Amino acid sequence: AFEGILRRQSARESAARTYARALPIVPVRARGLTIEGADGRRYLDCLSGAGTLALGHNHPVVLEAIRKVLDSGAPLHVLDLATPVKDTFTTELFRTLPPRLADRARIQFCGPAGTDAVEAALKLVRTATGRSDVLAFTGAYHGMTAGALDASGGATGVRVARLPYPQDYRCPFGIGGTRGAELAARWTENLLDDPKSGVPGPAGMILEPVQGEGGVIPAPDDWLRRMREITAARSIPLIADEVQTGVGRTGTFWAVEHSGITPDVMVLSKAIGGSLPLAVVVYRDDLDAWGPGAHAGTFRGNQLAMAAGAATLSYVRENRLAERAAVLGARMLGQLQGLAAEYACVGDVRGRGLMIGLELVDPAAEAPTSPGPPPAAPELAADVQRECLRRGLIVELGGRHSSVVRLLPPLTLTDEQASAVLDRLADALAAAVH
Ligand code: PMP
Repeated sequence: AFEGILRRQSARESAARTYARALPIVPVRARGLTIEGADGRRYLDCLSGAGTLALGHNHPVVLEAIRKVLDSGAPLHVLDLATPVKDTFTTELFRTLPPRLADRARIQFCGPAGTDAVEAALKLVRTATGRSDVLAFTGAYHGMTAGALDASGGATGVRVARLPYPQDYRCPFGIGGTRGAELAARWTENLLDDPKSGVPGPAGMILEPVQGEGGVIPAPDDWLRRMREITAARSIPLIADEVQTGVGRTGTFWAVEHSGITPDVMVLSKAIGGSLPLAVVVYRDDLDAWGPGAHAGTFRGNQLAMAAGAATLSYVRENRLAERAAVLGARMLGQLQGLAAEYACVGDVRGRGLMIGLELVDPAAEAPTSPGPPPAAPELAADVQRECLRRGLIVELGGRHSSVVRLLPPLTLTDEQASAVLDRLADALAAAVH
């Protein structure tokens, strides 16, 4: 049955399928960190639905919340009508928001994916400002629909000015650190103030506080504060895309809390639905330029997702899982730094909370005089991913060259599980290198 399912799905589904290519498994059961395949093998899942499963698979509080709605006889589909379930979700979500946004927040339910909420956010700031251009960053990932795709580096219509996202390891200015980030900020400032740049009056700026798909690149707090100042001074709404960084993942409930900035708009999805599809935009009330019907969508009222999401949000908050992610993530990062010291092919280890990346490089390809880090090693990364799978560990690849091994474990990860994950990863790396 196992082989048949794999074969039939490969023949029937589009070649666009990605995860399935690298992970030839047929999950039939899952709990917490563990997935069980149809062949009876068990895997530690550090892909977590691409960062969706804050509480891991089938957490009891999530299942209970879903069952409660099912047993209550409540309607499962109600478009955007008010319901007790929606009321609970919104109240719980607003409770977690940065206070200065929560005080005057509006919410727009979008549906049902992160990219839909990105679209809604871009449309909202364009409506509210009457302007059209969007500022986005190199290496960004915001989704796969047209506007979101443009903001991620595509070219389908929305005019997007692409600005340098600061990073230490492959700093666009070859400097890294505070000075590299400051140069990136000044680049942005100059572009906005240059009448010839074509973007003196953009509708908004969208950024990820930690780039996820881009290769786990945490933005420096100072740079984020500069982006906040630069946009505020020019009345440009700042959109924080917290689709992947939200709900405790980076060690604070929302990743913008590290820098203390308050965005004007937040795009939220993945973990807020407690493993079911849910996406929202939250924004300051004075940006609420939409009239009735200005933004619509049939599947904006998923009651099961709202119930699962509310249960997840309150569980993360009450059990201080963001703090747990910060402590455990820092410890794991420290241990992974040991691997970087041991293997020249581990070019960089970085992350924030339980959003961790190992950038694999090819030191042999480095010309002795060339500045900067060695070239990316995507094949080695794919080998490591394969070796991980052989050892019962699911990891994700990311980064511009797919050379970054990514760990996105659930926030409920225990110390023992963290050790098991790191042991298997170390073994896999050893096997891939030799
Ligand atoms: N924004 C970010 C930061 C993401 O990581 C993703 C998905 N990886 C998206 C938007 C798009 O979300 P979805 O895949 O649900 O459309």
